[in-house]
Amino acid sequence: MKNKYLYIETFGCQMNVHDSEQMAALLANIGYKTTDNPNWADLILLNTCSIREKAAQKVYSELGRLGKFKEQNPDLIIGVGGCLAQHLGTKFHKRVRHLDFVFGTHNIHRLPEMIGSVQKKREKITNVDFYKSLNSIGIYAPPVNGSISAFVTIMQGCNNFCAYCVVPYLRGPEMSRPPEDIIKEIKKLADNGIKEVTLLGQNVNSYGKALENGLNFTALIKKIGKIAGLERIRFTTSHPRDLSEELINCFAEEEKLCEHIHLPVQSGSNRVLTLMNRGYTIEEYMKKIDHLRKVCPQISITSDIIVGFPGETQKDYQETIDMMEKIRFDSTFSFKYSERKGTAAQKLAGKIDECEKQQRLKFLQTLQDKHTLEKNTELEDSCQEILVEGKSKNSANDLTGRTRSWKIVNFKAEQELAGKSIAVTITKAYLHSLRGKLMEEVGNVN
Ligand code: SF4
Repeated sequence: MKNKYLYIETFGCQMNVHDSEQMAALLANIGYKTTDNPNWADLILLNTCSIREKAAQKVYSELGRLGKFKEQNPDLIIGVGGCLAQHLGTKFHKRVRHLDFVFGTHNIHRLPEMIGSVQKKREKITNVDFYKSLNSIGIYAPPVNGSISAFVTIMQGCNNFCAYCVVPYLRGPEMSRPPEDIIKEIKKLADNGIKEVTLLGQNVNSYGKALENGLNFTALIKKIGKIAGLERIRFTTSHPRDLSEELINCFAEEEKLCEHIHLPVQSGSNRVLTLMNRGYTIEEYMKKIDHLRKVCPQISITSDIIVGFPGETQKDYQETIDMMEKIRFDSTFSFKYSERKGTAAQKLAGKIDECEKQQRLKFLQTLQDKHTLEKNTELEDSCQEILVEGKSKNSANDLTGRTRSWKIVNFKAEQELAGKSIAVTITKAYLHSLRGKLMEEVGNVN
């Protein structure tokens, strides 16, 4: 039988990266091998993002480029999934004529059926229905050869409706996976060599709310902590309002839970937080940060910040800067506000000029770089446990791995250490990574 090749391109967040892994796993069952060369492909999938206008533009331009492969090979099938596909539905076919099928965020499990239909009938297909069960996220994606970390989706959707965000419209209402399915999947991953899992969801701290007799998120973490062979647990993303005292204490109690939390603050101004419909005040947020640092002094805290939200005054912006000076995040992802159709923020008055947004962003990012370097420098001379991922991208003689606090460390060592937990002394801090010196093998942390 002739080999069939799948070329898949992913845009956007970690949820999308993991969805793409699931797509590849599902299509491997019907004979597709993945390739990183679109010239070889029998099937091209784009897993799209529409969180910002720029992300959507990138997808259109990539689809334009891929169209030429279809001219050379009329049997080539091209499909688009993900958030932009969910948003546009049938309109995607009008916009990009060479598309064969469009599938939404709840329809990954239907890929083999859609591909079969395109092959038989050569007609355009669109599947963007929402389902009441989690068909799309229970697909087991075996670990990629040699990898030691894996993503595990534990929930999908969001009920929060932050004023700037399209996710609740594109991923549907919040749904949690049954804990027994998650445990089964992680046990299987651990049996296949995975040492670290990142639990994924748009708002993982509200995991279990809609499950009958379900566990809450803290109880789920503690259950996962008992899985033999697994060394590290991470999660993303957390909503500050739903970060419970119980979960904060879990950082001190659960040995396998890594000392890092990504907690998007978005703004330091209570007026802007209200306009954003975030559901917390900056005082409440800072109280949670204090509590996290009290129970787990070595925790690293990262965040998301939006500048230039409609109506953000200089005073509001200054409050964000003041908040950053007080908290000193380990790193932040910061963005200029980008208008998305259909969101509450689209109707807000007081849109900020692009040039002003750019200036605010630049100042904020410079400040963050200063804090990041200071935070990294604090680690110099300390001993850190590293889970070794493999060869460093920058130097063939170096290995690379992450600290429990999610910082990248490069160091000289033999390749055999890949996949192991080792101890290094941090010798030099940089903005985006740390330099380390091998101490001794730590071994399994169980
Ligand atoms: S919590 Fe807010 S920002 Fe996050 S996915 Fe839900 S609506 Fe979007």
